Amino acid sequence: MDLKNAIYQRFVRYAKVDTQSDDKSRTFPSTKKQLVLLKMLAAELKAIGAKKVKMDKYGYVTAEVPATVKGRKPVIGLLAHVDTATSASGKDVKPQLHRAWQGGDIAISRKLGVILNTKNCPELAGCKGEDIITASGDTLLGADDKAGIAVIMAAAEYLLKHKEIPHGALKIGFTPDEEVGQGVKYFNVKAFGADYAYTFDGDVAGAVEDETFNADGVRLVVHGKSVHPGSAKNAMANAARIAADIVTAWPESRVPETTELREGFIMFTDITAGTEKAEVDGIVRDHDLKKLKAMERQLEAIVAAARLKYPLAKIELTFTEQYRNMKEVIAKHPAVMNNLLAAVKQAGLTPHIKPVRGGTDGSRLSFMGLPTPNVFTGGYNYHGRYEWVSLDGMNRSAEVLVNLVKKWAE
Ligand SMILES: [Zn+2]
Repeated sequence: MDLKNAIYQRFVRYAKVDTQSDDKSRTFPSTKKQLVLLKMLAAELKAIGAKKVKMDKYGYVTAEVPATVKGRKPVIGLLAHVDTATSASGKDVKPQLHRAWQGGDIAISRKLGVILNTKNCPELAGCKGEDIITASGDTLLGADDKAGIAVIMAAAEYLLKHKEIPHGALKIGFTPDEEVGQGVKYFNVKAFGADYAYTFDGDVAGAVEDETFNADGVRLVVHGKSVHPGSAKNAMANAARIAADIVTAWPESRVPETTELREGFIMFTDITAGTEKAEVDGIVRDHDLKKLKAMERQLEAIVAAARLKYPLAKIELTFTEQYRNMKEVIAKHPAVMNNLLAAVKQAGLTPHIKPVRGGTDGSRLSFMGLPTPNVFTGGYNYHGRYEWVSLDGMNRSAEVLVNLVKKWAE
């Protein structure tokens, strides 16, 4: 199955549309320009013969590829997000195709000194001989997640043309605002009508993800006691200093800068502090919920010690749940991963299951009742000017998609 040309044409068309989301916006979607691509996709879905093409008031685009087999088969959802990250510009993206890469430097922009190679990106080494797409040095590429959109669109077009390929009903969903953590906030899981789903929003070929962090927010408020510094002995509680004491008491081995893979952390993200009052916000992250809770107990112990040390201050510590590891849900439906792993192997790849150090739309969807692991699209270095995607990797992602929907119809 070679959909490279179809995927390439689509990818370039989508990459050129500026769809950057905005984490400061209070509207949904966070930026109107995302609707430009969403409308374009709705029109293209109609053009390739997809059924029930809809765009709802939030901008979610959904469609159906009807079943080609009789009898009740699980309905499979295929999802990707249209927005790009806030960390680099997504305006006037000019994709460049570097054909049959032979292992040397890829000049994204000589002028700007943006050079991609296996030294600054070891993941590229697995792509020798492949066609690599990059931006041109001053923007991100937007393969996250326009690669996923191009893969789903090209595979859907292929399946609609080849009705001899056996599969159950497929639901397609394109969503805004994934990068600002709101992607599926208003997504109507029931109306979507899928039993299981997959986001096509991963990275290098073969990588699949069924695990995300467990995530809580943490908030520390210190109420101090302000008196004239000249007569402060045994009378002052300096909230700023007490907050700093607590923050620095948190072990350095448990912060994002020193952890990787399955190691959890607490990150203090914002501190506003004066003598009277200090407020500290942060995030707690771990793949293992027990370990997450243990870290919270550890911070509570630090705060308890501070309460004894600073009896004149009042110290409050609260945790709030943000999202949970989707593995908890996905593991209850073993076929979801088993079929995916079989589909990856059938495409000639070795599946590589890795835990996401973050959340995905799939983690929210899983807890909304739709188990949704994440599938590779063939790209890497997301959210910046060094972003790249392998066209061959995208083609394999489409192949996995087709294999996967066939598996579900067996
Ligand atoms: Zn993404």
